[in-house]
Amino acid sequence: MRRIIGGGLSGLAAAVNFAKRGEKVEVHEARREVGEQFHANYQVLLKERPDAPWEESCAPAYLKRWGLEPEFTYRNAQKFVCCTQTRELTITMKEPLPLILRGGEGSLERGLAAEAEQFGAEFHYKSRPKPQAGDIIATGSYRTDMAAFGAYYENSDFPRDQFLYMHDEKYSPRGWYLYIIPMDDDTIKVMNCCSRPHTKKVRRLLYKAVEERKVLRDIIDGAKPVGTVGGQGGAEFPRSAVRDGVYYTGEAAGFQDPWRGFGMNYAIESGVLAQRALSNGGNYDQMWKAQFRNRKQADIARRGIFALLGNRAFEMAMRKVRDGDTVDWEKMNLQGWRKWLVYSSFYSIEMAKKSIWDSW
Ligand SMILES: Cc1cc2nc3c(=O)[nH]c(=O)nc-3n(C[C@H](O)[C@H](O)[C@H](O)COP(=O)(O)OP(=O)(O)OC[C@H]3O[C@@H](n4cnc5c(N)ncnc54)[C@H](O)[C@@H]3O)c2cc1C
Repeated sequence: MRRIIGGGLSGLAAAVNFAKRGEKVEVHEARREVGEQFHANYQVLLKERPDAPWEESCAPAYLKRWGLEPEFTYRNAQKFVCCTQTRELTITMKEPLPLILRGGEGSLERGLAAEAEQFGAEFHYKSRPKPQAGDIIATGSYRTDMAAFGAYYENSDFPRDQFLYMHDEKYSPRGWYLYIIPMDDDTIKVMNCCSRPHTKKVRRLLYKAVEERKVLRDIIDGAKPVGTVGGQGGAEFPRSAVRDGVYYTGEAAGFQDPWRGFGMNYAIESGVLAQRALSNGGNYDQMWKAQFRNRKQADIARRGIFALLGNRAFEMAMRKVRDGDTVDWEKMNLQGWRKWLVYSSFYSIEMAKKSIWDSW
């Protein structure tokens, strides 16, 4: 019997794969249902590899590659309003960005739980066994390196097929960002993200941005606030994600992108890798290190670049982009030896900073 503690993305990804192999598996979830750790909200699913073609990186194909075929709500956004501190442009991305429903009915968590149950996994709700009782600990974030706060507004006429992305360090210091994603036909979510030492200000800065930036004021003008969402995340890639013989996955292990606070890929992939290591007798630490090496280095290096340069990093990246352009993000990145030099320097500096101040 495999016992997984935590019914979030990483625990469920492991559970589905155990169950599909015919192994007995039980999931212990502290709440009364899976997908209750968030109010419903759309989250961005990044590519596993920057150069992966769209056919491989769209949500169903990506999940299938990791042994997952859930029913869930998602959509693809291709057009967006991109705001630097000084400019606002509407651009189209070369490839769409998958937006995944997290939390509540239709969410990815609910879909994965249904898939796991279909293959025989057992669920125990309102259950919090001690860590030693588990094979996999998937209990989510245990530290606050970054925080996000969002407000929902009803009756906004923001176009449903777009989203908004803003880098303005007056409201999202140290190169963080604010975004707007339409939720349904009537509601939008405005979300602000910050890292330490500004995490406690994330809510105040969101409302300040909504008051002061005209582009946001215009979008929200006449719309009614109907709720809020928030959460925190921790990034701390450990030397080993195995403690006392128990495998830690997702944010419980510290797997999280310190640049943007994104953790879905890390959660799904580490959950499946832990399952494979347990089922097939592999070395879990070697497996996640090989899988995450490049992505982790790039995420950590970019955190350093954005923390140092703030708005200038984004202004610089966007300098040649004009309103109405179609943009290929990958081509806007540094390439070749320049990329290697800049990324490896910032990676080393960030890692040294982290080991001294325990902060990115
Ligand atoms: C507001 C917000 C927006 C985000 N946006 C994005 C995004 O756009 N893109 C992206 O990639 N990532 C995003 N993330 C990060 C992403 O959601 C997480 O990295 C991911 O959910 C981590 O998965 P996990 O399985 O490690 O933990 P979680 O999904 O947090 O699941 C942990 C589960 O364990 C349960 N649990 C906790 N303690 C116990 C216990 N003791 N016993 C039993 N069960 C327990 C919880 O109830 C929960 O169900 C966002 C996070 C937040 C907070």
